[in-house]
Amino acid sequence: MADSTNTTILLVEDEPFLRKGIRLNLEAEGYRVIDYERADEVLQKQNSFSEISLGIFDIMLPGELDGLELCRRIRSRSDFPVIFLTARSALDDKLEAFQAGADDYLTKPFELEELLVRVQARLRNRPVGLVSETIGSYRLDLDSGIATSSTGDVVRFNDREKQILTLLVQNRGRPVHRSDILDHAWSSAESPTNRTVDNYIVKFRKIFEEDPANPRWFITRHGQGYELARP
Ligand code: CA
Repeated sequence: MADSTNTTILLVEDEPFLRKGIRLNLEAEGYRVIDYERADEVLQKQNSFSEISLGIFDIMLPGELDGLELCRRIRSRSDFPVIFLTARSALDDKLEAFQAGADDYLTKPFELEELLVRVQARLRNRPVGLVSETIGSYRLDLDSGIATSSTGDVVRFNDREKQILTLLVQNRGRPVHRSDILDHAWSSAESPTNRTVDNYIVKFRKIFEEDPANPRWFITRHGQGYELARP
């Protein structure tokens, strides 16, 4: 069972009973759910999508925007997977659009159990390359290894730095042991030391921390390794 405690799901569904049913079921599994009735509400009220791990969007929504258009607009800012909900009758003419951007879809009516299975599958399969993460004032794109600050500074990380950052992001909120970082980012033919890892962390602190001597993000957990703190 995947760790769902820090997983936030964005749910957009206009049918109140269905929305509530989905939300309660997801919350019972430990997911955090942010739910909306309309697509335009999401764009107005949701300032950031950085904490969203997955979206569940109904296609037919009241207002100007349907679920597909909502997905298109969010896709330029965030790459979280989206499961669409749709009535069987609306499926055919939407297939092309699904292929353009959907990660999965369910036709109504569906069993909530089926939705939970799909949610878990999507979260498990999520390719690491799609992750974009906020650390302090930086937005880090792990695919390209480029971090961009809110003031316009751009930092490009090399492959090893990317690997270390990816491991810390995947375990965000939990300490990662130095030996696990070494295993992840160095081959066995190389002979790095724990001190080598420390030097990378020092570099990350210089970039991401407001005060590198008192880190807020790249935390040392004595005896346990390093932790990338949650926002
Ligand atoms: Ca609807």
